[in-house]
Amino acid sequence: MAESVKVAVRCRPFNQREKDRGAKCIIEMNGQNTSIRNPDTPKEEPKKFAFDYSYWSHDGFTEDADGVLHPNKGSKYASQQIVFDNLGKGVLNNAFEGYNCSLFAYGQTGSGKSYSMVGYGKNRGIVPIICDELFKTMKLNDDANMRYEVTFSMLEIYNEQVRDLLQKENPKGGLQVRQNPKLGLFYVQGLKYVPVGSYSEIEKRIDQGTANRTVASTNMNATSSRAHTVVTIIFDQISKDDAGSETKKSSVMNLVDLAGSERADSTGATGDRLKEGANINKSLSALGNVISALADLSMGKKNARVPYRDSVLTKLLQNALGGNSKTIMIAALSPADINYDETLSTLRAKKIKNNAVVNENPID
Ligand code: ADP
Ligand code: MG
Repeated sequence: MAESVKVAVRCRPFNQREKDRGAKCIIEMNGQNTSIRNPDTPKEEPKKFAFDYSYWSHDGFTEDADGVLHPNKGSKYASQQIVFDNLGKGVLNNAFEGYNCSLFAYGQTGSGKSYSMVGYGKNRGIVPIICDELFKTMKLNDDANMRYEVTFSMLEIYNEQVRDLLQKENPKGGLQVRQNPKLGLFYVQGLKYVPVGSYSEIEKRIDQGTANRTVASTNMNATSSRAHTVVTIIFDQISKDDAGSETKKSSVMNLVDLAGSERADSTGATGDRLKEGANINKSLSALGNVISALADLSMGKKNARVPYRDSVLTKLLQNALGGNSKTIMIAALSPADINYDETLSTLRAKKIKNNAVVNENPID
């Protein structure tokens, strides 16, 4: 399992706030490499990092009448479709082969996580495209001895508490996370799993769940989510042999829009917001530790302990992260000089891939 973790970075256009402040772009991309310039020390060499993919989505595009962004001729603008082609197709193939898969979006608030994961308007992100393609591919298969079942759930983890986004009312303190004594796996007691029979049903469920999310305002972005949002799709392929007995191949896909990675102090947080920040950082570092321990294991390092228990997020993803599963991380970047510190720390967070191929260590 050579390529168990893939890391991509993506740089978005300036937002209005950055434009109003006359922000300068400090990110450059060249092939797989991304470099960042410290605006305070312009003479210093930019710091350079290598990734599986460096997506330039900062400029070089035109918006059509429907609001869809298209690359200009000859531009290197990475569209939603390109991100799907590179990363989403692998998730799909994996699912059909019966493996688990996790896709994460990481980065500070307002950097483009939700844009890449779910998308806005007609610029659909990787999650809806994966779901659409899943149903299209099932339809193409006319094997009479094969049937498919797709199940959907959506939850958020906010201050280490789980809320079911498919239910309007959740118990105070959230749903309980329990461990199955036989299998050792963690699960959320009472979480709603709904069967879905088409892409449009999934789309409706995503909209329903999105409407139920917890949002709080920070200085960075008025509607930013301070919670991790987890969409889980269970894909079962049931085949019947000549004697009529059935076997089931099952794949779990976890699609996770992580809470903003910014440190609490940069958002002027106090009180409740500060507590949120501490919990967010706790689960983000737990996630990094789990992924890096799994990478150690896959490199043959014995006795690597995988610390799933350190956060609710890693408990719930245990099944989808371990074993023969694939993990994809999309780190979202702001292009602006004013976000230098946070963007640098996002670029550095890919240390998670410590089994990396030689050329993937930061060159700073
Ligand atoms: P986050 O989820 O990280 O808080 P969003 O995904 O909501 O951030 O993105 C913030 C803003 O930037 C949104 O208005 C979004 O439309 C825009 N944006 C983000 N990424 C891109 C991109 N790759 N191309 C065009 N616009 C983008
Ligand atoms: Mg978001």
